[in-house]
Amino acid sequence: MKCPSCSKKIDMFSKELNTWDKKKFCPHCNTPLKTKVNIKKAFLYAIPLMTTTVLINVFFFGETYLEHFITGIGGGFIVLLSMELIKYEDSQETE
Ligand SMILES: [Zn+2]
Repeated sequence: MKCPSCSKKIDMFSKELNTWDKKKFCPHCNTPLKTKVNIKKAFLYAIPLMTTTVLINVFFFGETYLEHFITGIGGGFIVLLSMELIKYEDSQETE
């Protein structure tokens, strides 16, 4: 993920982003940040996932366990992939 303020890359799994606080700080420029799920992106990633589960239904008829497994893992990945950082002040304005 990229910092919206200094454009430097921040590791998604860094301790700066993995706090329970709503307000997070960029480890490079110390700007207050917030993580947000980009709905548009999540939707784009959801299309191939849904296609995969439909294909599994067709080819592995009745194997619902596999379908649930892929939907669960895929759903988690979609959330991770769709996360982006926004400036904390910006989030206060829009919400
Ligand atoms: Zn920064």
